[in-house]
Amino acid sequence: MNVFLFGPPGSGKGTQAKDLAERLGVPHVATGDIFRKNLRDGTPLGKLAKSYMDAGGLVPDSVTCDIVADRLMQADALGGVLFDGFPRSVPQAEWLLAWFASHGRRADAVVSLEVPEGAILERITGRRTCAQCSATYHVVYNPPGAVCVKCGSTDIVQRRDDTAEVVQKRLDEYAAQTAAVLPVLRSAATVHDIDGTGDIAAVKNRIFAALHL
Ligand code: ADP
Ligand code: ADP
Ligand code: ZN
Repeated sequence: MNVFLFGPPGSGKGTQAKDLAERLGVPHVATGDIFRKNLRDGTPLGKLAKSYMDAGGLVPDSVTCDIVADRLMQADALGGVLFDGFPRSVPQAEWLLAWFASHGRRADAVVSLEVPEGAILERITGRRTCAQCSATYHVVYNPPGAVCVKCGSTDIVQRRDDTAEVVQKRLDEYAAQTAAVLPVLRSAATVHDIDGTGDIAAVKNRIFAALHL
């Protein structure tokens, strides 16, 4: 089963992904997490992605699609994945649907998280991220303890691109390139529009109910 978490930066995709992926029995594939891991490991891909990420722009489609194709061919992904942060442009969406068609796979469902821009800014500037496992916290809404509850790491940081200026650039990029992805996905899969406001558990319940989980 291939499911997509869609929504603007800070809408709660990563927060909702873990339980949802577990329930669906598929791996969570987050392109942002893959780029950040490469950045930490100092790989050529990480070095290339860094300048785009720091500026709040998109990493080029060809680079991004190549890493997704690699990920989708790994053994644990053959039965489907939960996408988070991909596709993020119309060319990426068209590439993926063509790739699915030529590999006998299909897009099943899209969870589109709707959150107003004011709440987004507050969520992103208060976000804290585990540098080891990418789990996210929020200084007010989901305060981290001394160690990450998911992996035990003490390395809980603020992402370099979670500053007010870069967030604005990412929101502009979302409006310019990513919003138009939803109609493309809608042509291939069932889209569930979910109210992403309210507490984390309430949003999870809405998602699970929409997907009959
Ligand atoms: P967010 O919390 O904004 O949803 P992500 O972790 O998904 O952040 O992405 C962080 C950055 O990684 C993006 O601003 C972009 O530079 C890069 N990135 C992630 N996914 C993609 C993608 N599908 N295409 C291009 N760039 C991407
Ligand atoms: P995305 O992956 O879409 O960029 P995240 O899941 O990282 O978004 O969430 C962004 C920030 O908002 C994080 O700090 C997270 O803890 C917080 N957050 C997520 N969902 C909610 C919610 N329902 N209410 C309040 N804060 C939330
Ligand atoms: Zn962790």
